[in-house]
Amino acid sequence: MNLLIFRCIYLIIGLMFTNTMFASKHNLRILVRLDDCHLSGDAKTERIIKLFARYKTPLNAGIIPFGAHKNNQPDTFNPIYQNVYTEIFVHGYKHEKYKSDEFSGIPYLIQSEKIKAGTEILKACNVYPCCFAPPWNGYDENTLTALTKHNFLIVSANEFGCKNNPKIKYVPSTCYSVRDAINIIRKGSVFNGIIVLLIHPYEFNSENDFQLLEKLLITVQLNKVEAIYFSNLNSLDENITSKRLQYHRNPLFYFLRSNNLLGLNKNIYYEIASLMFINVLEWFMLIFLLIYLHLKIVFTFSHYQSIVVGIVLFSLLIISYTNGQDSYRWIFLHKTLVIAFLIWLNNRLILQKKLKPTQAT
Ligand SMILES: [Zn+2]
Repeated sequence: MNLLIFRCIYLIIGLMFTNTMFASKHNLRILVRLDDCHLSGDAKTERIIKLFARYKTPLNAGIIPFGAHKNNQPDTFNPIYQNVYTEIFVHGYKHEKYKSDEFSGIPYLIQSEKIKAGTEILKACNVYPCCFAPPWNGYDENTLTALTKHNFLIVSANEFGCKNNPKIKYVPSTCYSVRDAINIIRKGSVFNGIIVLLIHPYEFNSENDFQLLEKLLITVQLNKVEAIYFSNLNSLDENITSKRLQYHRNPLFYFLRSNNLLGLNKNIYYEIASLMFINVLEWFMLIFLLIYLHLKIVFTFSHYQSIVVGIVLFSLLIISYTNGQDSYRWIFLHKTLVIAFLIWLNNRLILQKKLKPTQAT
């Protein structure tokens, strides 16, 4: 067993080295999402938009349709948003909390009316957004249905929202600090992915904050990292279906990313091929872990005990499959149960074989 542990350590060290060797800046794209903008724009928003325009870098500006005047009266539209380096997406309705946020848990018709009203305000300004970002990342299945009804193609929240509407695509925010984005670009990445950077105008309170943002734009240009709009994602070679979001939540992957292990980074939305690789790795690790834990000893007590264990395992498996929970803990539990059940089945077969009287040869 000691040998096995040493081999694992070698493998991890090896993987860390290959990470730094194969990390490339060309594997990265960046999508900057500026939330909490108002139709009329304010001094900070204008300055950020001008900065992106100066560096010819795409910026996605999230407008709250009724943000400035909460009495359902639209604001005046600031022409600064019409420059070619800014794309507008819709950020909620009034940015007000009803239950836990502005959308989730609210009846479908009300959600749909809110989305429609917000879209019409923008259409009147000749803006046709394709992406919707719910305030506080709060949305549910009704929000997704309403979004498809009003011709939205993409939802951008965080990585843990519901994802069971195949008609919509998902681009969660993954990076929340300009400094982190600069560091990732400088380091590069082994796997392809997008840095989805979320910023707000209110975070820019000093000259230093604007200088840091400018530094990011320079870093993006120097390293030839492609900056994109949400609308690019419909035509680029990026798979942004719910499958990608699902793989991102896989337990091992989530753990590695959250702890920045094996060259993975929590601030990158990785492409689906690298995620599938990690997914397979995760299954293998679980299998070895369960075998190591000598589950077969547990499952071969007596005939009846073994059957009870089998029934309990199978019931839990069905529950974990049908309860609709898809947080990474549930996925982990589900995978563990699948493997545990297979091992139990295997042990049953071995047990049956042993019980059979051996034929005389
Ligand atoms: Zn917001």
